[in-house]
Amino acid sequence: MNIILLGPPGAGKGTQAARLQANRGMVQLSTGDMLREAVAAGTPTGLQAKAIMERGELVSDEIVSALIGERLDSSGGQGAIFDGYPRTQAQAEALDGLLAKRGRRLDYVIELAVDEDALVKRITGRFSCAKCGTGYHDTFKQPRVPGVCDACGSTEFVRRKDDNEQTVRTRMAEYRAKTEPILPYYEQRGLVRKVDGMASVDEVAAQIDAILDGAR
Ligand code: AMP
Repeated sequence: MNIILLGPPGAGKGTQAARLQANRGMVQLSTGDMLREAVAAGTPTGLQAKAIMERGELVSDEIVSALIGERLDSSGGQGAIFDGYPRTQAQAEALDGLLAKRGRRLDYVIELAVDEDALVKRITGRFSCAKCGTGYHDTFKQPRVPGVCDACGSTEFVRRKDDNEQTVRTRMAEYRAKTEPILPYYEQRGLVRKVDGMASVDEVAAQIDAILDGAR
């Protein structure tokens, strides 16, 4: 099964993709994560993407589609969860081509519907363990022991550079202008399923499970 998680920044795509990867033997393909890795490693792609990401704008369609193509090949035939990709009509069409070439197809596009003002609060409060990547939040999910990661005991945490209010507003605007308009492309094909992204992480997960299990 191959699915897209679609929704604005902070809608919970990464959280839900990580859960699906852990529970269903699918693989999370996050272009944001791939780009952050490229930036950290100082690759040519990373050097090109760094400033664009810091402004909250979109990296070129060619770069992200090439990254996805590489990961589809290296992840074997495992079902894919596309997280943060596609973000434009050109990427949506590129993805169809990438999948068709490999004899695969999309099963669902899961839209995480959310309230934008709440998202800014969600995003600007988030941080993660520097060692294992477990996600936390200033308001919603502090570590059980302050300053110590629940999962691995590390005491180092990081915040994404683009999780500040100004960049978040740009990322939202990019979503509205370029990503939301691709929904009809998938609606025409009957692939879109909407879930309430403002519900708790567990409730959203349950809604997604029901879709993937064919209950709705
Ligand atoms: P994310 O982690 O998905 O919020 O992505 C962080 C940033 O990486 C975005 O604000 C963009 O600058 C860039 N990015 C990630 N995925 C894409 C994509 N599919 N197309 C263009 N830019 C992307």
